[in-house]
Amino acid sequence: MDGDERDHSDVELVELRAKLAEITRQAEARNIALQRSRTRELALLKAENLPELLNHLVGYLRDSYGLQAVSLLLSDPQHEIRHLLLDAGRMPADFPNVLFVDSLFGVAPQLGALRTPWLGPYRAADHQLLFQTGSGLESIAVLPLMRQSRLIGCLTFGSADPEYFTRHEDAEFLAHLAVIASYCLENTINRGRLLRSGLTDVLTGWHNRRYLQTRMREELARARRDRTTLTCLMLDVDHFKTINDSFGHLVGDQVLREIAQRVEAQVRASDVTARYGGEEFAILLPQTSSVQGVLLAERIRAAVADEPFDAAGEATSITVSIGVAELSPARQEGDFKSLGEALLAHADTALYAAKAAGRNRVTAA
Ligand code: GH3
Ligand code: MG
Ligand code: MG
Repeated sequence: MDGDERDHSDVELVELRAKLAEITRQAEARNIALQRSRTRELALLKAENLPELLNHLVGYLRDSYGLQAVSLLLSDPQHEIRHLLLDAGRMPADFPNVLFVDSLFGVAPQLGALRTPWLGPYRAADHQLLFQTGSGLESIAVLPLMRQSRLIGCLTFGSADPEYFTRHEDAEFLAHLAVIASYCLENTINRGRLLRSGLTDVLTGWHNRRYLQTRMREELARARRDRTTLTCLMLDVDHFKTINDSFGHLVGDQVLREIAQRVEAQVRASDVTARYGGEEFAILLPQTSSVQGVLLAERIRAAVADEPFDAAGEATSITVSIGVAELSPARQEGDFKSLGEALLAHADTALYAAKAAGRNRVTAA
């Protein structure tokens, strides 16, 4: 072997070693990416309810990928997902990076043809509706979320790095993540529906007493944390027995349904309405004082009293009595269970004072 040949094979050896080092590095990088991707998917699978999942999908994924923006577009034409959030004690506005839309294609026509993640440069004309703010974005990934070949939404990642969403192997991980995210969304939405069915009063469609008890604790916790006041209205129909006696039980049911509707027209979406007993209704008003509660109660009273009801074709005037009580949990000792019971008891006492004072009136504790 002369010197030239040896030099030649030395060069080959060096090149081979470099190649091997590169393959090892790529394998390691892929392994790390796989591990990270599994950790992210597990975090999504562990989410116990819809609010937690939404927070994971936008907040956790953004932090975990180190992205500029993550947004989630959800098809919600019946407003059902938003109602499920309200049931869980959250406002849709608590999730600014989640967009609830009647039609996905109205916001992102390109989704119609998309079945797998699309990775590429950010173009404001095509993509700005997908993000709250698109400023500073250079590359994005659009992940269609499918369930049973139906598009339920779309998860969009945005990076300030123009190269971030260009690597081909990422598409595979993102496609997998999209399947997991779709599955988790469907699952938590179904769980919310199920929960709702066990906690809803069938006659009025309002929540039932069991739901109110759970929700009461959540609202008390929130009011203590935010140092706000929670007000409770307790409403009972006046002389309801005579409606049943005069017109029968079915007409009585119809009247109860209509009372619920008239009340509902007066309250905010964030207020909690529950059928507390047969013809008794409780309404929880977060961030509301007793004074404001009395004003609302007076509007409700008038909405019932001012317009007669149709009882089997007969215009019948019906009235309600309402008791109002407030609580500021930050200024009160005690666990949420006993505070909740005390708030309901105070509202009930006020209600009976209203009855004793002649009915068709509002009384504050
Ligand atoms: P007041 O509250 O003004 O003192 O008189 P009231 O006649 O409303 O009081 P009471 O509590 O004695 O009567 C309530 C009646 O409501 C008794 C019950 O049969 C009837 N009731 C309770 N739940 C329902 C229901 O779901 N449907 C119908 N139709 N009636 C119901
Ligand atoms: Mg009663
Ligand atoms: Mg009554």
